[in-house]
Amino acid sequence: MNITEVRIKLVSDLEDRLRAFCLITIDDEFVVRDLKIIEGPRGFFVAMPSRKITEKCTSCGFKNEVRARYCSNCGRQVTHPVPPANVVGQGIRTRQFADIAHPINADCRDRIEKAVLASFHEERERARQPDYVCRYDEFENSR
Ligand SMILES: [Zn+2]
Repeated sequence: MNITEVRIKLVSDLEDRLRAFCLITIDDEFVVRDLKIIEGPRGFFVAMPSRKITEKCTSCGFKNEVRARYCSNCGRQVTHPVPPANVVGQGIRTRQFADIAHPINADCRDRIEKAVLASFHEERERARQPDYVCRYDEFENSR
């Protein structure tokens, strides 16, 4: 698998650890978008596109965030399903996000991360130029 294109959308909100959105094209023919570049305590890392996990309210069926204690639609207390046996003992940390697309081995993750971060640093350099234009959104119109 070759990453043939990377596009970066820099985010300037410094309140948050999110530094950029990015999309990658694989082998010139498959696009994955909404990867995120996060600034962590040990530097930048790439987060795969993810969705928030929701849990259905047993009374009204409304989808609440996993950590919600009360349903935001009907106000009843949310009863959390018992976690499967293999999860018991791993602490009370609840997963809030699930990856939509992700590498299945460390080597692939590494290649994606290197390509994305290299483009990210280039984009930050380019963003200093007065005629800088972000190419991230062009994508929708050009294909
Ligand atoms: Zn409800």
